[in-house]
Amino acid sequence: MKNTGKLAVLGSINADHILNLAQFPRPGETVIGKQYQVAFGGKGANQAVAAGRSGADISFIACVGHDDIGERIRRQLADDRIDVAPVIAVEGESTGVALIFVNGEGENTIGIYAGANAALTPERVAQHQQVIAGADALLMQLESPLDSVLAAARIAHQNQTRVILNPAPATALSDELLSLVDMITPNETEAQILTGVSVKTDEDAAKAATVLHAKGIESVLITLGSRGVWLSEQGNGQRIPGFHVEAVDTIAAGDTFNGALITALLEKKPMAESVRFAHAAAAIAVTRHGAQPSVPWREEIDSFLQ
Ligand code: ADP
Repeated sequence: MKNTGKLAVLGSINADHILNLAQFPRPGETVIGKQYQVAFGGKGANQAVAAGRSGADISFIACVGHDDIGERIRRQLADDRIDVAPVIAVEGESTGVALIFVNGEGENTIGIYAGANAALTPERVAQHQQVIAGADALLMQLESPLDSVLAAARIAHQNQTRVILNPAPATALSDELLSLVDMITPNETEAQILTGVSVKTDEDAAKAATVLHAKGIESVLITLGSRGVWLSEQGNGQRIPGFHVEAVDTIAAGDTFNGALITALLEKKPMAESVRFAHAAAAIAVTRHGAQPSVPWREEIDSFLQ
């Protein structure tokens, strides 16, 4: 680490349309919803907001459309303590959209239209080279074009910026990209796609972590929903349980975990303590509805942990 304490997040921005209903519609079925709201989301933005609200010094590299909602989102991100200078409004594009169903159990299914997120090209990433080079850590997800994620990882690697990848949504990744990653944070599904190991138990998680270490990744954190996280470093694995709360909506649980985790690590908290901080932030988020509206501020996380 370079001790600038700075974080760069590169990723997606979406307007989330959230419909709460008793059960998911099956093919051909129509289900009347109980509650509807538009909230700001996108994995990149959610993680940036989680980092900003939990106290990180963060710049966000992203694209919105040249539209009203894009401008509103940009202003909201700035209010969430994020440097939005590298958030570009792209002519002729609309801001990304996510259509989210949440069922009575708090589970979700999501359809996404990338919109302006697809315009975050390697050329646009290169325009923000200094932001990545000047940061201690670069946090990314997979809702941006894969060649852009790779381009950013290369810039980070050349400049000793730690690369943290939350490999969501689940997709197979090249060995080259994985070899540039210092820390990876898949959930159980994503870990299975990346390693071929079906992750159900702690033993499975340890096996999946071994596969990821063999790709050159130093730190592996497999998030296990309400069971917490499997943390594996230098061949040592352990499960760190999360907090027991009444979950109403797990949208952005992983995003909140990632943003808060990086904040704590950049404050030089030890890994286990950083995971506990991230668990607390994510536990608060699952007790609330929506993506960014559910992400807690630092004071809330600190008082939860007291
Ligand atoms: P994702 O949202 O990416 O699928 P997970 O479901 O694995 O990620 O959850 C990420 C983190 O969110 C967990 O490690 C935990 O800290 C927290 N979390 C998720 N679900 C719950 C829950 N029901 N109760 C408490 N914490 C939860």
